[in-house]
Amino acid sequence: MDKPAAAPAVWQLRLPYLSLVLFLATIAALVWLTRSYDEENQRTTLISDVLWMEQNMRFHLDRNAAQLAQIGPELLAEGERQPSTDASLRQLLRAESGLARIIWLNAEGRIQGAVPPLSDAHLIGESRGSVPSDSMFRLGRAIGRPVYGPAYEVAGGDYHFEVHVPLYAEGAFTGAAVGVYSLQSLVVRELPWWFSERYRVAVEDADGREIAAKSKVGPLSSAHEYRMAFDPPGHGLSMHITAYRGETRWIPVLLIASLVLLSGIIVWSVWQLRRQLARRQAAEQALLKESAFRQAMEDSLLTGLRARDLNGRITYVNPAFCRMVGYTAAELVGRTPPMPYWDPEHAERTQELHEMIMAGGTPLEGIEVRLRRKDGQRLDALVFEAPLIDSQGAHSGWMGSVLDITEQKRAQELARQQEERLQATSRLITMGEMASTLAHELNQPLAAIASYNSGCINRLESGREIDRAELREVHARLGRQAQRAGEIIRRVHDFVRRSEPKRIPVDINAIIRDAVELIEADARKRRMRVSTELAARLPEIDADPVMIEQIIVNLVRNGMDAMRDNPPARRTVHILTRQEDDLLVVRVADLGCGIPPDTARRLFEPFFTTKQEGMGMGLNICRSIAELHRGRLGFEPNPEGGTIFILSLPVEPA
Ligand code: ADP
Repeated sequence: MDKPAAAPAVWQLRLPYLSLVLFLATIAALVWLTRSYDEENQRTTLISDVLWMEQNMRFHLDRNAAQLAQIGPELLAEGERQPSTDASLRQLLRAESGLARIIWLNAEGRIQGAVPPLSDAHLIGESRGSVPSDSMFRLGRAIGRPVYGPAYEVAGGDYHFEVHVPLYAEGAFTGAAVGVYSLQSLVVRELPWWFSERYRVAVEDADGREIAAKSKVGPLSSAHEYRMAFDPPGHGLSMHITAYRGETRWIPVLLIASLVLLSGIIVWSVWQLRRQLARRQAAEQALLKESAFRQAMEDSLLTGLRARDLNGRITYVNPAFCRMVGYTAAELVGRTPPMPYWDPEHAERTQELHEMIMAGGTPLEGIEVRLRRKDGQRLDALVFEAPLIDSQGAHSGWMGSVLDITEQKRAQELARQQEERLQATSRLITMGEMASTLAHELNQPLAAIASYNSGCINRLESGREIDRAELREVHARLGRQAQRAGEIIRRVHDFVRRSEPKRIPVDINAIIRDAVELIEADARKRRMRVSTELAARLPEIDADPVMIEQIIVNLVRNGMDAMRDNPPARRTVHILTRQEDDLLVVRVADLGCGIPPDTARRLFEPFFTTKQEGMGMGLNICRSIAELHRGRLGFEPNPEGGTIFILSLPVEPA
């Protein structure tokens, strides 16, 4: 897996925020600059407009003064006024000029006439209102130039001011033409419409009182205002120009709005991007953690993993698989069959298995394959294949888990060999057992034959006449014993061949009598007694009489052995038969030494004996015979001392 890239430095992470802040600051600065530029622009416009207006006003007043100077002599002239003079007067008094009245004075300052004519209150030759018109007259005459007087209030709230234009004829002062201006009319009429659309113009007196105004609204405060002396007429009058709040200038507003909107969108998208990035980083972290966990898991696996695509090309192997086969991942990934780890000796079978897997995987229990490590060692593997499903749900190959079962197979092989050896040994043991059985069982008839034989020889050697009948009887017994020996050999032979006992209906009491007869000679020799207590009317059972007889003889002989050291009074083996429910029970009781517990545990083991001449096979064979007849052989201590062996046989064997 690729190493994750180094974490970005803190400044790299902060860079987007820094640039965002810079961007926002730039936008704010731009907006501020635009606004201040706009303000500046408005201010400049205001100043230039005002200057224009001032100039215009001055020009207007000057022109009026010039016209007054022009028509003044005509007005002062004696006689009828020329029509051209009247026309000039009308022209001067037209509404736009701001002149409310024109008065003309003679060289002494007396009123000679006025248009429109003066009322009674303003008689010719009298002073008018509070205006010191005499001083103006004199000043005009003195300086020879038009003189403007202060503003004064007249009826109706209007204010008037006057201009005295001195008149000369041929260098001599002839009088003066006085133009009476209505401030309101001058301000309202004289200013062009576009100027008053933009600005409020007010005329204030020296005390700051508004004495005339051209305005749609009352006094207002604005960032843009301009105050200047109203000169002429002067005398402390000033003009106050205030810009109306300019109509909204949509383009910069739209520009600013779109800039703000765009910055908002950018901030939002950066924030979204940041969230997305955080989510991606979290997912990446989780993925890294998960893949590290998987990697660790894969590395710690003991099971080999190997993925192949649908063409059988190896696409992935885990470390365990590499360790197993001895090849590195680089040597394996990308390889196609035949694989380097296939055992050349089993190449064909491996190829077949490979094709089988490619066609449909492995059975649930897996398949065993013989492989070969890179170093040439053989490898037994158990392979399980499962289909690889990709993220789209399509079958893209096979994932095989491979278990190294070489050791297991070796252990199995070892166990098999051991089992074989064990079986061979046990066969040997069984043969040994059989040999001992033969020897043990044959001992009885052969001893009897030897005893009859020595009896005969003794009789012959004694020189006494031999009774033929007695001799015949002895030989008959001899023959029976020989026959019995043969029978034993045959039975043992059958037993070795695991043949079933030859069952015939037998009377258990009869068998016991035969057994007692068989053992009597030996008992007598050993000064033992064998007594019987046989139940009458016992049912016959299906059994092999020779085998049952063997049991009885064996038990009686063991009993006698146990009583070897007993006093003569306690040297009896007692045989008792009885039916107990479905069982025929034979009890062989002795008065011997009894069986200590540690002996009791091993009593029926083959070759267990406490006797010097013993073989330790008697009880083992007896129990086997009892079990062959679906019966049981056990023992219990005799209350009178010694042991009671109990043989129980089912009345109706299944
Ligand atoms: P063997 O007679 O050749 O020893 P058995 O299998 O018949 O073999 O008997 C095994 C052992 O069980 C004997 O050696 C003896 O110690 C013990 N045993 C068998 N029967 C008796 C008995 N009636 N009383 C005491 N011990 C007995």
